[in-house]
Amino acid sequence: MNLNITNPIFHDEAKAIAHLEGSRWPDGATCPHCGSDHVTKMGGKTQAGMFLCNDCRDKFTVRTGSVMERSHVPLHKWLLATHIMAASKKGMSAAQMARMIGVTYKTAWFLCHRIREAMEGANAADSGPMGGKNEVVEADETYVGGKARNRATRKPAKKKAVVALVQRDGKARSFHVANVNAKDVRALVVTNIDRASTLMTDESPIYYRMGKEFASHYAVNHNAKEFVTYGGFKHSNTAENFFSIFKRGVIGTYHHMSEAHLGRYCAEFDLRYNTRELSDSDRASEIIKGGIGRRLTYRRTDTVAA
Ligand SMILES: [Zn+2]
Repeated sequence: MNLNITNPIFHDEAKAIAHLEGSRWPDGATCPHCGSDHVTKMGGKTQAGMFLCNDCRDKFTVRTGSVMERSHVPLHKWLLATHIMAASKKGMSAAQMARMIGVTYKTAWFLCHRIREAMEGANAADSGPMGGKNEVVEADETYVGGKARNRATRKPAKKKAVVALVQRDGKARSFHVANVNAKDVRALVVTNIDRASTLMTDESPIYYRMGKEFASHYAVNHNAKEFVTYGGFKHSNTAENFFSIFKRGVIGTYHHMSEAHLGRYCAEFDLRYNTRELSDSDRASEIIKGGIGRRLTYRRTDTVAA
């Protein structure tokens, strides 16, 4: 399936509801509260999209128990925003999203963060260890923010670190870490990477000891331009490709990522990278599915970042 944004599901609320119901409940609706399939579709304008469960007597809609539940944004705009986020390689600012789908900046900001929450859910569907025997997993770190530019009278903001684990020809997982040190990075590395893997890192001393816990460990000296050696085996270009997309997104689109939300931006770039073989529509479908069963983990009182 490859829809474009002229598709009626992005403009017509009834078609959007039918599309979401069909993808969530291909065999007919089931109650999100009790799991019963003994449900009745209610009718009329005021109860469009509403179901009544004949077992627990509770009402529900296709939004219930998903990231869409507490949102007042029409579902066709949800579908459009999700499709746009799925299709935008470098991400999409809330300001641009607001203009594109016709909502306020604040609404777009919450909508984009809820979609990232759904992306986290989609990533979590594949949470087993990365790598394995004869597999190479690269670990690398990068720093975002903290540019002194435009800050003549203030101190530069602290740079925020992101550690990415990227399997060669495979998936990526990135994490915001408060401090890049051997203890904290090891905790991420050993919980996410199968120890039968080959670990590929830069020459940072933080990787030296944890490297011994893996089948093998290669440290690449970036400064010596030793990017690709051993017939193309010893390199960390996979992680660097991931980071180059991530950094272009951060610098070009988000400018400023608040520390509180950085993990969610990581999930956004992970999801797009991990579904890079899919069409934009299929990627959007994965995101929608990932939003089922998710509860928002941020507080509504969080500062709305620029
Ligand atoms: Zn029920």
